[in-house]
Amino acid sequence: MTEITRFAPSPTGPLHLGHAFSAVQAAAHGALMLRIEDIDRSRCRPAHVAGILCDLAWLGLAPAAFLLQSEARPRHRAALDLLRQRGLLYACTCTRGQVEAAAAPHEGETRAYPGTCRGRSPPADMPFAWRLDLAATGLPMVQEWEDLATGRQQGRADAAGDPIIWRKDDWPAYHFACVLDDAAQGVTLVVRGRDLAEATPLQRLLQALLGLPAPRYLHHRLLLNAAGKRLAKRDRAETLASLGALGVRGADLAARLAALPPVGPDLLASAAAAGSVHSLQDQPRKGV
Ligand code: GLU
Repeated sequence: MTEITRFAPSPTGPLHLGHAFSAVQAAAHGALMLRIEDIDRSRCRPAHVAGILCDLAWLGLAPAAFLLQSEARPRHRAALDLLRQRGLLYACTCTRGQVEAAAAPHEGETRAYPGTCRGRSPPADMPFAWRLDLAATGLPMVQEWEDLATGRQQGRADAAGDPIIWRKDDWPAYHFACVLDDAAQGVTLVVRGRDLAEATPLQRLLQALLGLPAPRYLHHRLLLNAAGKRLAKRDRAETLASLGALGVRGADLAARLAALPPVGPDLLASAAAAGSVHSLQDQPRKGV
């Protein structure tokens, strides 16, 4: 069976080598779908959507289909309405500050939502988010998945407490939109960084709750910056656009990243890209 994979960046900044590794690995494992996760309306920029399309073309990747997540909001809302009719959601007016104060975590612990608003109906006079009452779903909190990298895995879906399904700003929350769109795009294998593995137990529960097919997963290793930290959007030096400007060929870089095994210890980004950077440097310089 040919797998259907996806690359699902958020257009909140330029793509970097870590994104390129994810995209190339997803393309290497099946037919690649692109999904631009642009539902965080305050942080997403159209210019970054254009940049992502440009970077993928530079890498030589041609996704078989493209979904701009914000355009699927009516479909997301229909799924929200079904969960409301099932009595599984409650209105939460808590601010981030209130949740953090109520959860009173010890340093380094997950700030789990303590269920302050559980059972609440929507207030008439203030903004609210919809949260899923996990206990009311009747589903097991320990969820399992098949990971191509690490085999059978399990984790708790309630690690952060009852999750927000629909945000106060009237947009779907990441986990909800993600599982709905993975199913809508027919994704059979989710390829993404292992920093996102902690999202998987809740996403498995949501798939079961919504009657969606369960994809398999490949949580790949990460590329690190020189300080040993996961590449972040602020690591400007490693943006794909900056590599292109240095004369790196996208096809060389993609071939190099595709040849790296997806599983193993995390890698320094500079080492992961080294082959294509060297091939650039090996070329005779013009005009010398
Ligand atoms: N949009 C998420 C990100 O850019 C990826 C989510 C996912 O792959 O499930 O980090």
